Amino acid sequence: VIRAAGPVSRVELARLSSLTPASVSNIVRVLLESGLVEEAGQSPSTGGKRRTMLRITANARCGIGIHVESDQIIYAMTNMAGGLIGRQRRQGAAGLAPEALLDRLCREVDEFIGHLGILRGAIVGVGVVSSGSIDYYRGTLGGFVGNSFGSSLPLRDQLSAALGLPVVIDRDSTAAAVGEFWGGGYDQPPTFSCIYMGDGIGSATVYEGVPVRGASSNAGEIGHVSLDRDGEQCYCGNRGCLEQLAAPRALVSQNDSGVTGLSTAQAFDSIARQAVHGDAAAESLIRESARSLAAGAVTLANMADIDLIVLAGPGFAIAGAIYVTEIREAIAERAFARSVHPTEVRLATNPRDSAALGASALVLQQLLAPRI
Ligand SMILES: [Zn+2]
Repeated sequence: VIRAAGPVSRVELARLSSLTPASVSNIVRVLLESGLVEEAGQSPSTGGKRRTMLRITANARCGIGIHVESDQIIYAMTNMAGGLIGRQRRQGAAGLAPEALLDRLCREVDEFIGHLGILRGAIVGVGVVSSGSIDYYRGTLGGFVGNSFGSSLPLRDQLSAALGLPVVIDRDSTAAAVGEFWGGGYDQPPTFSCIYMGDGIGSATVYEGVPVRGASSNAGEIGHVSLDRDGEQCYCGNRGCLEQLAAPRALVSQNDSGVTGLSTAQAFDSIARQAVHGDAAAESLIRESARSLAAGAVTLANMADIDLIVLAGPGFAIAGAIYVTEIREAIAERAFARSVHPTEVRLATNPRDSAALGASALVLQQLLAPRI
């Protein structure tokens, strides 16, 4: 509550948290002693007694987030207020054997910390996220798009042992959702979903501030909801999946621009840029993708009964406004509970880096709110 609503007085904290003033005083004393919270002057005078305000000590601790993808690995360090301390982009993990990936991550984390000049003691831990096959509970990675490991790599335990820091492994979409909650302030509704579009499409739902992971941490695979039961077979085994219709990979393969040598992400960015600048063919591709995604978003809203959908991931970085418009319209016209409550749709604060930033938020939130 202090992070989200700060600066905030003890009296307001008691009201916002429903704790007694005595409990608030005790908890605040512990937080002040640990350096996680600091005093931030007096409340403005409004006639009554002036109160001491409290806020998170933003730089008391920081987290490292790593987003592992086949075409790039992004490292981000954030402080406790969600502020970015540093970011670096490195070569992707395509073709790497599990041991080689582990070596790379260890070396590059050390370099990253060294470049930023941050004391290791201030780092809470490392969050590693991917769109690949993740088991959050076991802390394993079975590979990612275009690079299946054959067996699961116990990445959490091995990386943690090598770095001497706690490590969390999760899906990119779950991390993006936690990051949005973390950076969203007190106005962020605690029940919302995040649709994440990178190479593929995933989603994550947060209920009362806690992400829903499911039995094997694979909840929210909205990209593999079938929109056409007789459609083409997807690599997942299902047919006519949303991802086959709407994901960057699908659009790039439909678009014969004649330009070669671009990665899927670069080719998609180029289509999105043309669409934003009014190229009719590119716009119609993006709009079709947005309409398919809107059908998925209505399903998500119907299943999860949420107040907000946040669009995150590099797939929304350039033509995000087109997606927001189409999804907003579909939700307003077709969501089951639309007459009971509205469901807002908006873009993530930083769609391109939301998974890496979220991975860092994941580690920080586990320190401060261990219920996830
Ligand atoms: Zn599928």
